[in-house]
Amino acid sequence: MLTAEASLDLAALRHNLHVLRGRAPGAKLVAVVKADAYGHGVAGLLPALAEADALAVARLEEGLHLRKLGVTRPILLLEGCFCAADLQLAAQQELHSLIHSPEQLAAVLAHPLPKPLHAWIKLDTGMHRLGFLPEQLGDIHAQLAACPWVADEIGVASHFSCADEPGSASTQTQLACFISATADFPGPKSLANSAGLLYWPGSQFDWIRPGIALYGIAPDGQRCGADEGLRPVMSLRSRLIAVRDHPAGAPVSYGEKWCSDRPTRLGVVAMGYGDGYPRSTASGTPVLVNGRRVPLVGSVCMDMLMVDLGPDAQDQVGDPVLLWGPELPVEEVARHTGTIPYELVIKLTPRVVRTYR
Ligand code: PLP
Repeated sequence: MLTAEASLDLAALRHNLHVLRGRAPGAKLVAVVKADAYGHGVAGLLPALAEADALAVARLEEGLHLRKLGVTRPILLLEGCFCAADLQLAAQQELHSLIHSPEQLAAVLAHPLPKPLHAWIKLDTGMHRLGFLPEQLGDIHAQLAACPWVADEIGVASHFSCADEPGSASTQTQLACFISATADFPGPKSLANSAGLLYWPGSQFDWIRPGIALYGIAPDGQRCGADEGLRPVMSLRSRLIAVRDHPAGAPVSYGEKWCSDRPTRLGVVAMGYGDGYPRSTASGTPVLVNGRRVPLVGSVCMDMLMVDLGPDAQDQVGDPVLLWGPELPVEEVARHTGTIPYELVIKLTPRVVRTYR
């Protein structure tokens, strides 16, 4: 019997791709699949990503892994390349490389490459993490355009810091900055992540880069993906491995942080921080047992967590438990855990078996 399982719904992923494409019909869709497709397992998802125009990952190793899996479409390296050897590989494997720093630019210009390098210039429009200043764009573009081993089409990209906050002034500023900095730019432009795509219609440009929304999850953690017509791709499931009579006043789990004020039935679920379910999850966080909402109680252990099934519960060992999924949004669990849904799905460990249907 499988105890801890993440089941991945490929039809939901196809649906989400379709919904997101509908938000920017003229744009190319770059599916962001870094960190093993946000913990969903990129290899298993590939059949449902066939309609994406390109894929994006953070690092070179992730891009090479996708090529090994047989992906032939463009792959963007969001962090780019840092040395001559990396650039040789990126060019050889036709990986598109973002260039965000003077060091990266110098590395590109320094040595001839075996094939034309597909280059994207990263602009810092206000996130202040990576990128050149908007006023440097013309000069950087001229240097790359003059380089014989850089492919003719050079793109420009930037990234939002607060697009998940409706009406945020900084997003308006970033958008205005991107528009004015790239007004005369001859190549493709890319700005929108999921939040840009869902909440900032003016941010779509030529290539859209949704990540979290592809997986059916709302980027802001306050709304749910379903509010945007998205369907959750992941369901995190387990089973009851014990059901116990529990007396009033007896504490539960490490640190004795929770006591029942009445006799009850306690369910023990095979799911813990060793699976990636956060130890910081508070008592009261909902869990679905046999489709019924019950509260998590006491500290989450490495392999188990406990739920208060209620005094009259009839649940049995082996009964199904849903930790998050369509009937219990991961966004809601994230709010109880004091984190963002991105972190919940990404942190699932290899012990959780991924199944694709
Ligand atoms: N573009 C870049 C540069 C990113 O770093 C990310 C994710 O962090 C994305 C796009 C996708 O963002 P999201 O998952 O919020 O759609």
